Amino acid sequence: MMNKVTVSELQAYQGQWVVVASNKVLVSADTGELPAGPWQGLPFLQHYADEVHVLPALDYGEAEVAHLHVLDIGSEHINVQGWEWVSLRHLLMLHDPQSFREFARAWQYVHFLRTHRYCGQCGSPAEQVGWEMAMQCTRCRHRTYPRVSPCIIVAIYDYDQQKMLLARGVRHKDPQMYSTLAGFVESGETLEQAVHREVLEEVGVRVTNVRYFDSQPWPFPHSLMVGFIAEYAGGDICIDEHEIVDAQWFDFTALPKTPPKESIAGRLIEAVIHKP
Ligand SMILES: [Zn+2]
Repeated sequence: MMNKVTVSELQAYQGQWVVVASNKVLVSADTGELPAGPWQGLPFLQHYADEVHVLPALDYGEAEVAHLHVLDIGSEHINVQGWEWVSLRHLLMLHDPQSFREFARAWQYVHFLRTHRYCGQCGSPAEQVGWEMAMQCTRCRHRTYPRVSPCIIVAIYDYDQQKMLLARGVRHKDPQMYSTLAGFVESGETLEQAVHREVLEEVGVRVTNVRYFDSQPWPFPHSLMVGFIAEYAGGDICIDEHEIVDAQWFDFTALPKTPPKESIAGRLIEAVIHKP
């Protein structure tokens, strides 16, 4: 759900702002923090008062997500002394996972609005629905919601050999980095079926005892990483060269460079090593 806000509400607002231009987010050049209201050093914001939205706070029980003001200035470029525009991936490095999840939520909202301005059914302009996060066609009333694309990510272990299977994907920028396997869930598949299919397609082996581990929203641009741990069941490694550069079995005690522990891939690897 989101609401439009008035200029006077903006001036009183004390929380954080997510200001987006193209594919960058505005942060303090000194601290990397998001702007916090009201108008802190950012008078240009008031020119966009009509376009600011508030994402309300959410209570998930264990962790409350704070409300955020969100503004997308599109392709405009504004230089502000003491502030800089950084990519979402850069923001991931600057902030703790909890904060990052909040920015990611705002980012996905912006992405949704940008890509749903017209109806997919009849092509007429769409408008925002005031009381929920949705866009609705002005003509045929077709309604769309932010897309979430589930993607499985799986760590494969062989406890008899004390080894795990890790791979270097073609899209990994770091040539030393090995990680768990991942792939999008296809229409009509269960998450577990996606695990079996992806593993067989990417590295040619079969797995069993597929167990859910945890999940992580991944806003590039709207994935939900669903983590699994799976036991090796047979087959020799045979990589799909369109997706994988190299895949190997690694001893638990001699792993290559792997993703940071803040990522779900890093946590999956940790979980495999430490759970006998
Ligand atoms: Zn329509």
